[in-house]
Amino acid sequence: MSKSTTSSATTANDNHETHQVFNQPTALEGYNSWQSDTLLQQWTRHYGGGWAAEQLTAFGAKTGGELLAAGFLANKHKPEFHSHNRFGERIDWVEFHPSYHQLMAHAIESGMHALPWNQPRPGAHVARAAMEYMHMQADPGSGCPLTMTFAAIPALRHQPQLLKSWGKKIAAHHYDPRNVPFFEKAGLTIGMAMTEKQGGSDVRANTTRAERLGSDDGVPTYQLTGHKWFCSAPMCDGFLVLAQLDEGLSCFLLPRWRPDGSKNALFIQRLKNKIGNVSNASSEIEYRAAFAWLVGEPGRGVRTIIDMVSMTRFDCMVGSTAIMSQAAREAIHHCGGRAVFGKSLHDQPLMQNVLADLAIEAEAALAMTMRVAAALDAADDPAEQAIVRLGTALGKYWICKRAAQHSYEAMESIGAVGLMEDNVVARLYREAPVNAIWEGSGNVQCLDLLRVLAREPAVLAGFIDELATAAGRDQRYDDYLANLQQQLADPDQLELRARQLVEQMALAWQAALLLTAGDGDVAEAFVASRLAGAGGLMYGTLPASTPCLAILRRAAPQLG
Ligand SMILES: Cc1cc2nc3c(=O)[nH]c(=O)nc-3n(C[C@H](O)[C@H](O)[C@H](O)COP(=O)(O)OP(=O)(O)OC[C@H]3O[C@@H](n4cnc5c(N)ncnc54)[C@H](O)[C@@H]3O)c2cc1C
Repeated sequence: MSKSTTSSATTANDNHETHQVFNQPTALEGYNSWQSDTLLQQWTRHYGGGWAAEQLTAFGAKTGGELLAAGFLANKHKPEFHSHNRFGERIDWVEFHPSYHQLMAHAIESGMHALPWNQPRPGAHVARAAMEYMHMQADPGSGCPLTMTFAAIPALRHQPQLLKSWGKKIAAHHYDPRNVPFFEKAGLTIGMAMTEKQGGSDVRANTTRAERLGSDDGVPTYQLTGHKWFCSAPMCDGFLVLAQLDEGLSCFLLPRWRPDGSKNALFIQRLKNKIGNVSNASSEIEYRAAFAWLVGEPGRGVRTIIDMVSMTRFDCMVGSTAIMSQAAREAIHHCGGRAVFGKSLHDQPLMQNVLADLAIEAEAALAMTMRVAAALDAADDPAEQAIVRLGTALGKYWICKRAAQHSYEAMESIGAVGLMEDNVVARLYREAPVNAIWEGSGNVQCLDLLRVLAREPAVLAGFIDELATAAGRDQRYDDYLANLQQQLADPDQLELRARQLVEQMALAWQAALLLTAGDGDVAEAFVASRLAGAGGLMYGTLPASTPCLAILRRAAPQLG
């Protein structure tokens, strides 16, 4: 990370210059996003991903270096849709700025999209999450197809023939953006299309229909007719799609090109005009008898695709954690290079409180995210399965929601410059709501969690066991946990109380992780402000006893 200093690049003189530029921080760029992020290193190592340090160092050199610049370019030059070529032929092609391809190529050639599939060993999901976190800080938009490509493998396991023919190329360290058939490529990317106009959260309302064609190498084939209201990264080579059969909603793999080499009947209608996730193309599409293979059993589409969705939900946690960490570090860095009323903002107690509060929130999110990654690494263990099942819904709800207010507060710490589009925090602010809304919005996560409580008592019991590991360390935590258990045992008005319950569960869990494996100052401030009522609704309301400067130095040690 470069140092915060005042700059006097421009000098007033007797000719034309009107003033000196001073009391402005340096740009936070040209760093190694692994080596400069001691918290990322600590939590990655704690959860077993330390063996990948060399790989992560090489990855971080790029994501904090040239890819930061690529991220700005990819967001400035939006993807463009071309329905036809100059000869009038329908091509359904989305053109991206070269910087987008640079980001995609780096991630795929580094193996980020498939690390746990190619190197299945303890800590692999943790190491991949660390890579994804760093990539998202360079550019979250390209993170979308990378996540979907990664997440497709567990769903494809429901159709071993397809896994065999597609899996190797999906996991290959080879990026090929050409608009050519899948069988001509050595590396493939995968998208996902569930949402329709009349049904987003409620995919059972889907009207896209599939009709049986025959079979291909033993895999049933179908033709799909209908639409999707959202289909991100429409230049992917294949899409996992939900469509109706007589047996009910079913899952299909729909390739961009048919196996005979002709263009599949997938038509892009237009690209969405989004406030965030701008470098990623999200589209509206139609299928007009488009070819597809069945994945999993007929009528079990949701059960099949959920294996993909649970991974993309986890990546929403990773993405929002990355947003908060980057926002906190940008704010801390900026304030170190800015003096107000004759004193550095780092020396102003009220700003210290705001920055420390932002740092605590980001670290609590990181701890929770890496804990779920570690559980993904041990998914054969039923206790860890419980953490994945419950922790993903909790984290998707809580971390993604916290990121929106967090990025705004970081922006305000930076002042007016923070609102400018050439400041990365402006992009983080526009990005933050995206992770909260897609892949199952907040209420959907809460209702999912209620389903776990109602139907999977062992999962809740496993979660409570995890919380109990932190008991006896802090009376305020113990009291909070006892109250949470009372709340969980109360069956009255559960739907109305769901957000409150989920919030309490998330806070208790973050506190438990910080108390058992985190830093004492951070854990103390977190428990006091979030559990014991000594904090307020806004960031910057930590109790006066908090060692704010020590917390800032922990989050950004280069401050000295
Ligand atoms: C940038 C972007 C890219 C996307 N890309 C894709 C993609 O590639 N593929 C894809 O399939 N989809 C994609 N989506 C769609 C996304 O997954 C859906 O928007 C999301 O699932 C919510 O669906 P909806 O918009 O129809 O909202 P709705 O389902 O109409 O929900 C509206 C609100 O109601 C709440 N709600 C729903 N049910 C209940 C209930 N029972 N009780 C209380 N509240 C409830 C929800 O939480 C939400 O807040 C994308 C969305 C965005 C923003």
